[in-house]
Amino acid sequence: MLTFKNIIASIKSFLKEPIWYNSFIAKLLPSCHTIMLFGVVCTKRSELRDKDKNHEFIHCVQYKEVAVLVLLIFAVLWTLGICPLWHGTLASMLAYYIIYCIEYVIDVIIQFFYNLFHKHDLRDTGHQSYRCLAFEEEAYDKQSDLNYLKYRKPYTFLKYYGTVIKKS
Ligand SMILES: [Zn+2]
Repeated sequence: MLTFKNIIASIKSFLKEPIWYNSFIAKLLPSCHTIMLFGVVCTKRSELRDKDKNHEFIHCVQYKEVAVLVLLIFAVLWTLGICPLWHGTLASMLAYYIIYCIEYVIDVIIQFFYNLFHKHDLRDTGHQSYRCLAFEEEAYDKQSDLNYLKYRKPYTFLKYYGTVIKKS
C-alpha cells in the first residue's frame, strides 16, 4: 500500500542502496543485466547478490571520484573565465563514461591485433577488452570483499591502468 510512511522508507532505502530493480532502462540493454548510471544502479533483476551489489557500488564510488575531479578542474577554468560553469557540470556527469569508452576502444584495438596474430581467434576480443578496463578490473578484483568500500582509498582505480591485453 502506498502510504507516506512507505514512501519515506523507500526513499531511505534507496539513498542507502541506490538500486533501481526491474529497471526499464536496464531492460533496454541486450548484453548486460545491470548497469551503473550516474551513481544509480539499474538492473533488470528483482534482486541482486551481495557480490553484484558490491561490484556496482564500487563503480558508483569511481563515478563520484571522477565527477569531483573533473568538476574541480572546470571550476578552476571557470574562475579563470575560460568556460561557463555548466560545461563543468556536464563534463563531470559524463567524464566517467567518456573515459570508459576511450579506454575500451584502445583496449579493443590492441586486443584485436593480439588475438589476430597470437591466437588466430577473435571471438572473445570484446569481452577481454571489457575485462581490461581499469574501472572493471578494480570492481571484479574486489567485488567479493564486501568490506572493501569501507577501507578503500580514493582513486584506487588508477592502480589498475596499464592492463591492455588479456592473454587467456
Ligand atoms: Zn562492472
